[in-house]
Amino acid sequence: MDDLLIRRAMLLDGSGAAATQGDLAVRDGRIRATGPSLPVDAKRIIDADGLALMPGIIDSHTHFDAQITWDPWVRPSPALGVTTAVIGNCGFTIAPCRLQDRELTMRNLTQVEGMSLDVLRQGIRWNFETFAEYLAQLRASGSAVNLAAYVGHSSVRTWVMGADAPKREASPDEIAQMAALVRESMAAGAVGFASSTSPAHNGEGGVPMPSRLASDAEHIALIEAMSHAGGGVYMVTKGGQMPVALLEEMSARSGRPVMIAALLHNPMNPQAVFKDLDAISAANERGRKLVGQVSCCPLTMDFTLASPYPVEGLVNWKPALGVQGAALKAVLADKSFRAAVRAELASPAVFRLFNGEWDKVHVVETALQSHRTLEQRSVAGIAAEHGRDPLDVMLDLALAEDLRTTFTAQLLNSDEEAVGTMLNHPHSIVSLSDAGAHLTFFTDAGFGLHLLGHWVRERGAMSLAEAVRRLTSQSALLFGMPQRGLLREGYAADLLLFDPAAVGRGPKRRVFDLPGGAPRLTTDALGVHGVWVNGVQVADAAGMIDAAPLAGELMTRFAH
Ligand SMILES: [Zn+2]
Repeated sequence: MDDLLIRRAMLLDGSGAAATQGDLAVRDGRIRATGPSLPVDAKRIIDADGLALMPGIIDSHTHFDAQITWDPWVRPSPALGVTTAVIGNCGFTIAPCRLQDRELTMRNLTQVEGMSLDVLRQGIRWNFETFAEYLAQLRASGSAVNLAAYVGHSSVRTWVMGADAPKREASPDEIAQMAALVRESMAAGAVGFASSTSPAHNGEGGVPMPSRLASDAEHIALIEAMSHAGGGVYMVTKGGQMPVALLEEMSARSGRPVMIAALLHNPMNPQAVFKDLDAISAANERGRKLVGQVSCCPLTMDFTLASPYPVEGLVNWKPALGVQGAALKAVLADKSFRAAVRAELASPAVFRLFNGEWDKVHVVETALQSHRTLEQRSVAGIAAEHGRDPLDVMLDLALAEDLRTTFTAQLLNSDEEAVGTMLNHPHSIVSLSDAGAHLTFFTDAGFGLHLLGHWVRERGAMSLAEAVRRLTSQSALLFGMPQRGLLREGYAADLLLFDPAAVGRGPKRRVFDLPGGAPRLTTDALGVHGVWVNGVQVADAAGMIDAAPLAGELMTRFAH
């Protein structure tokens, strides 16, 4: 007898093939059979009655490394159709980490994860030092979704160089020690090696993330260490200064795929992302496997001036980093500080998160009753009405409210014509949810549902079958995840049952469930009827099933 039979579904098998009507039977966590009409002999029978059934979504760009140690359900992803998460992206990992480096590692993460140091101190369970011990901890505590973990460059660097990691280039001896750590971590089951060279990636006080100090020689040595046994995917969030040609050389030397993030469309430099994608295509024509991570969501961030992530990558914002309270307010009020920021925003840049598009910056929530009428208005609109400069308007409003005003900025990737082209590029992968990070700034964990609802149904930008392929088997193949990403006999029963006419992600909302009651943004699924991980149902139409056993598999062996 089967454990589960889903009848009369529109089966989208993940290969990109057109949908077929049929049944799917699950036994012992695996797909036992699919077909037009299977015997009705199962402990549980669901009549899908025209709903669509696809393999669970593989989220290739998450940052659950810290959260998963206190929240093995990795909220909110399973309710949003995600059944497999790749963690450790950008190299922002918490393993390996020596006892004495825990504080430093958490300080580095506060900024990029959008969590306070207090949340991380209260939340992270540190029963490990090495990468292998971290995996053992994950295995012991279980997870609601399947996991694949990168070993992270910044952690490896901190292990070898300690407090010097975010300060200088490494010596040849230090690079050799890092390479040994990467080899060890790959042997323990890492899916690959992840790094960042992006100027947007800073730790507490604006200190660069350690990997940003690495030379090209260090990157190449560590990628060779990653691939020494023939496997691994190299993932990098590249700064504008890192050319695709260098990444092609890395792929050529290692023979391994290179995942390139974050390819977002910048309206101030609209051709940049297409130049990168063209270079990626050219590399593929020469036999290299380069893949560009693109996003189907506009990059929108909520922020206050106490911790304004969107502008913190600006060179001239530096004086405001690492100071708080009265000292921070003094910097924000300073005329020469403002003049320098204005000048920088007026000059062209290859990659910049915030580009002075004040019509895309809105006041979300004011602290003072007297400012309520400003809520939902754009900073550009307020400035125009009063004949004032928009930067002054934003900073003066924040200063008048003890920096408690919440703003939102639509930063990148909002030109839907351009994004549609990027999503359909032959060498792009729909990714960049950043789930588990930037928790107070934005929440794109529902990216897969957004692709199915907004891009397929509302915009007709691609077929449903192709969208499903891009969310499932494309990743499974790239990472070499065994028997996942397709609805095939013998494959893992990672399933998403949904209504194509209703699927999507709901509006973002704030909840207060981080350790110590700290806030995060979350979103609910629309049109999802069920999510299964290895045959265990983790979500239904009402959301997460909290009592579900943790059925996710920690993957440590990958095909290559
Ligand atoms: Zn990331």
